[in-house]
Parts: sequence; C-alpha cells; structure tokens
Amino acid sequence: MSEELMTRLNDDGYKNWIKASQCLKLLQRALHPFASSRMSSFHQELLHHHGPLRRPCEAKCRARGNTLPALCRTCHEWQTVILTHHRQGDSAIVNWGNCYPPRWRRNFWEVAKAYMPRGQSDVSFACQCDTPALLNLINFCDCFHSVDLKCVSELIRFRNKLMHSLELSVSDDWMEQYWKSLKKIMQDLSPEGAAVEREIQQMLSVNLSICVLDDKPLPIVHQGPSVSDTDSPGRINGQVISYWEERLLQERLQEFLQAASDGDGDDAAKTQAVVQLKRLQVFLQDNRDLSKRFSAELQDISSVLAANQGDKDEECVLA
Ligand SMILES: [Zn+2]
Repeated sequence: MSEELMTRLNDDGYKNWIKASQCLKLLQRALHPFASSRMSSFHQELLHHHGPLRRPCEAKCRARGNTLPALCRTCHEWQTVILTHHRQGDSAIVNWGNCYPPRWRRNFWEVAKAYMPRGQSDVSFACQCDTPALLNLINFCDCFHSVDLKCVSELIRFRNKLMHSLELSVSDDWMEQYWKSLKKIMQDLSPEGAAVEREIQQMLSVNLSICVLDDKPLPIVHQGPSVSDTDSPGRINGQVISYWEERLLQERLQEFLQAASDGDGDDAAKTQAVVQLKRLQVFLQDNRDLSKRFSAELQDISSVLAANQGDKDEECVLA
C-alpha cells in the first residue's frame, strides 16, 4: 500500500472526511428503497383520489427550459397536484425541466423529479439519484411527513460541508454531531434504515490507518456485506480505502469541473468551483500517487481554469 495514503490517513481530519463521505454513500442505500416505496404509494393515492390524472396526456406536453408553457388538461391537473403537495406551495421554484409530463401518469419517479434539484431529466429510477437529490425530494414533497425535516436540513448542511470543505478535513466534534444526525434520520427511514444504521456505526468506529497498516481484512468483513459498497471489493483493507478515496475525490472533481464549465450556472457557484478546483489541483499534485492516478483529470482542471481565466480577462477588456 502506498506510503502516501498512509501519510494522508495519519491526518485525523482527512480520515474523518473519508469516513463521513463514505457514510453518505451508505445513507444512499437506505434512501433509495425508502424514497422509491413512498413515492410509489403516493402516486397510487394521487391516481385514486384524482380521476382526471388517470387520463393520458393529450398533446405530448414538454417542458421548455424550466417552465411548462402550454399544457393539456391532464398535465395541467398533474402540475396543480404536484404544487399542492409541494411544501413551499405556490412560491415553490420547481425544476419542471426534470420532468416529461406524459410519463406522470404511469411513472411515479417522473413525479418525484419535480421535487428535486435540476439535472434529473435523464433519471428514471431512485437508484440513479444521489443523496442530495433524495434529501431535497424528502424536504419538498409532503408525502414524506414521517421524516423529521429539521434532521433533513441538518444533513443537507453536513453534506455541503463535506463537499465544500476546502481542507478535505472535518473535526472529531463535527463527526459526533454528524453521527447523531445520521442516527436520527435512520430511525425515520424505517425499516430500510435499520441495517444501514449498523453499517454506518461500523464505518465510524473503524480505524482506517490500522486497516492500511495491516493491509489485511478486519474481522468486520466476515459479517456479511457490511461497510463495503456493493460495487467495491468486499473487504476493508488498504486497497478498498484507496478505492473509496479515489472515488470520493473523483466525484468532487467532476462536480466542480461541471460547475466551473456550466454556462447557465450562476457566477457565485462558478467562482466557488474555480476555488475548489485550484485547491484540488494543489492537493493532487502534492501527492505523488494521486497525481499519477489523476493525471488526465489534472489536465482537465488546467483547461477549465485556463478557460475561466480567459473569461475573466475578456470581462476586464469589455469593462
Ligand atoms: Zn399533456
């Protein structure tokens, strides 16, 4: 196992960051089936109580950008019902561009997407959605009345802190609060939350440095599919941790590369993405093993940063 990884894991803040991020992945495993089953029942109830929703779309209605300009009677009815169940009511900003209205009648996830952040148009199932998207859905759709909203908002804040922490580091105190919050939401996600809660607890109690040092499976791995992801090797050893680290950095990198290149994004988000990319660039370059593994991505970062610098120079000239 690389010495560089060992050195990184000697930093408690970084170790916490990996574990906390990995817990979000575990949370997703409970959120997927929970959100899917709740939305399916909600959709059934809507069809049962509102006869007109059972009619097919009459005009192949489509969103234009984020609006629904001209809807047939059925899709208009759906739009009204979706807004009625939005916790922000008429003042809600709904990302209609996520949805294809003719599918509302048959596909419950198409309805769920109206309560989610933009960028979900190609998504068809809960399992394709990430944690923030699912937390947004729970936050905005009133069919999730059994979940404590304060806890959802807290988790959204925790997730943002993890994603936007420039230092890739979180403190022990922060981890303690995070665990409390995760535990609370797991109870609300019953029954799907119970098994995942145990896995999260295992994840938080495991010492990653020792796993890497020993570089052999811990007893924990014999308790079934435990803390490993379904798509990762089934044991916690150095390679698994290295795999988690690579994937977490990759996700972070892709999110910020996209935000920094997003022509429609707002300027503040773009500026923040550029700052994050610069920080990641330094971090990857400072770690020999990572700079090798991320050589292609480092080139992408340079190109995006150069393009953003170009935009800025152009603005200066125009000003
Ligand atoms: Zn229609």
